[in-house]
Amino acid sequence: MSILVVGSVAFDSVETPFGQGDDVLGGSATYFSTAASFFDEVRLVAVVGEDFPSEHLEFLRSRNVDLSGLQVVSGETFRWKGRYGYDLNEAQTLETHLNVFESFAPQLSPVHREADFVFLANIDPELQLQVLQQVEKPQLVACDTMNFWIEGKKDALLETLKRVDIFLINEGEARQLSGEPNLMKAAAKILAMGPETLVIKRGEYGVLMFREHSVFAAPAYPLESVFDPTGAGDTFAGGFMGYLASTKNLTESGLRQAIVFGSVMASFNVEDFSLDRMRSLRYSDIEDRYRKVKLLTEFEGL
Ligand code: AMP
Repeated sequence: MSILVVGSVAFDSVETPFGQGDDVLGGSATYFSTAASFFDEVRLVAVVGEDFPSEHLEFLRSRNVDLSGLQVVSGETFRWKGRYGYDLNEAQTLETHLNVFESFAPQLSPVHREADFVFLANIDPELQLQVLQQVEKPQLVACDTMNFWIEGKKDALLETLKRVDIFLINEGEARQLSGEPNLMKAAAKILAMGPETLVIKRGEYGVLMFREHSVFAAPAYPLESVFDPTGAGDTFAGGFMGYLASTKNLTESGLRQAIVFGSVMASFNVEDFSLDRMRSLRYSDIEDRYRKVKLLTEFEGL
């Protein structure tokens, strides 16, 4: 089964306490597609400028990502600049240049419209809605967003949320969107906005999944060195959706397994800058770490 993703393909400039990278490959759809490609076929819908190097396109092609929905237009590629302090859980955005995304209108091909699994990665919620209007009968729609859009495009985001099955955001964004500091109360408010399942990412503290009658907690895999948390959320989403699309198991148990695959993918991605760790990753590494997470949370009693 294939997954359709719309989101950003970007040049990122990132500073962390351990180093910095300028104009490196980034973007929500880039991280998502790469992670999901370990599990299933991915079709990417986005736009880049003519300044986007062919080596980045080659990398995505080497991961079997279908780029027929990636427009290359005159102008500059989306750019994001961010900084992380020693608390690597929260990025501080220094600059956002939408560039070619300002005039982007996604046009889905007949093959794209038939997608069963759709991921609306972090991008202008108006573009997320345009994609939703074109897909025919998806089995599952999930979406992500960030503080930039919660502040700037809240109405469009609320419209999107009415139409998605699964919503993934980080802890700070859950509080910001709901106006509620307590995460349990925030989750209840967000579920009332539309999605059946809410996944709250908490960086090194793991993930919480909320549904009407259940809460599931998964730890983050404990790492000795985290170099660059950029893209952790999108990589999580790629592992999560990739696993769901490959198994088509949308039960509570299937969703829980997908959460752990998502966490495992994110744990690899933060070990190196940009998408560098993904370049050498093998599927057997993913399975090994999945087993380790299982042992990490196993306990007896009662
Ligand atoms: P995350 O998984 O949350 O760390 O996402 C990081 C990625 O999001 C970076 O590679 C950025 O290029 C991308 N990004 C940052 N701001 C935006 C934005 N406003 N819209 C779309 N993508 C963004």
